[in-house]
Amino acid sequence: MLNGTIEVLKDGLSKPRKIVITTHQKPDGDAMGSSLGLYNYLVEKKHQVTVVTPTDYPSFLNWLPGNDLVISAEQKKVAAEKAIAEADIIFCLDFNALSRIVPIDSFVADSLAYKVLIDHHLEPDDFPDLMFWNTKASSTCELIFDFVHLLEDNPLISIDTATCLYTGLLTDTGNFSNGATTPKAMRLGADLIEKGASFIDIQEKLHNNNLENKLRFLGNSLLNKMVIIPEIEFGYIYVNKEDSRKFNLQSGDTEGLVNFPLSVKGVRIAALIKEDMSMIKLSFRSKGEINVNEFARQHFNGGGHKNAAGGRSNENLDKTIHRIIDLLKLEKAKKKY
Ligand code: 5GP
Ligand code: MN
Repeated sequence: MLNGTIEVLKDGLSKPRKIVITTHQKPDGDAMGSSLGLYNYLVEKKHQVTVVTPTDYPSFLNWLPGNDLVISAEQKKVAAEKAIAEADIIFCLDFNALSRIVPIDSFVADSLAYKVLIDHHLEPDDFPDLMFWNTKASSTCELIFDFVHLLEDNPLISIDTATCLYTGLLTDTGNFSNGATTPKAMRLGADLIEKGASFIDIQEKLHNNNLENKLRFLGNSLLNKMVIIPEIEFGYIYVNKEDSRKFNLQSGDTEGLVNFPLSVKGVRIAALIKEDMSMIKLSFRSKGEINVNEFARQHFNGGGHKNAAGGRSNENLDKTIHRIIDLLKLEKAKKKY
């Protein structure tokens, strides 16, 4: 869906501009892939472009072309604020609400720049001037590819852009295995390989680059921290501060963990429940018609997609776990799933 007009933006991009690209907190493969994919394309188009992330991101993404010039507001808040204040155009990628970009939310909200949202999450807020939004898209990377086509700039998709876009496509489709894996997503994979993305190299960098501690942590989580409750078809893994310390967890080390309880036979809804500095961060996954976007939105100040969503809780770890279980028991009793 396209609100506003693409012509205005196309005209705006016809001469060099100061552009900021931003994405959600704790960016994942699609967030960084789409941001740096768009970055590399806009640099080809001779714009002055800065990618600003609200927080740091996993080291398995720090090889993406353009990574070295990314400004993380967590480390460089002043530089982030300056780039946003000076921007003519701000691209907001892979998120649907300004609350997802704290601590730079107010800088973006206050900026007079032309704001463009490119996203595939449900129910976006209406802060942007132009929305390129489609919940059926496999990934924001797919939308970036479509967006470049819309601007008739297909020839400007370099190997670097293709590499970034393939990365997000791969991570958001769970290596071409989850519900986001549409025929279009498969075709896009082929197109990006034709554009020069080395899928073996990307796969290797994303998945075969684990530090030992991460795998020890995974082993511990599966052995000691995974709980399955068959009556409500629910499974979860919890991570407390002590685990984070003991295994020296870094950003992204819990990525993908929620898929393990979901893979247990009979489980249709799964959670990763992680104690962070000041709150509990929640990741939900579900199968079929179970809508975790609604669940996260209603009860945990979050959202996302039907089968993959996140949220947060201000109660402690124990209380949060009990609350989720009680809520699911209630939903089950009401035959909501
Ligand atoms: P994950 O569980 O991998 O962190 O996130 C799953 C999906 O839900 C992603 O698409 C992510 O962007 C979205 N998401 C995660 N946490 C939140 C949140 O707190 N609020 C909203 N609105 N979306 C979230
Ligand atoms: Mn995404």
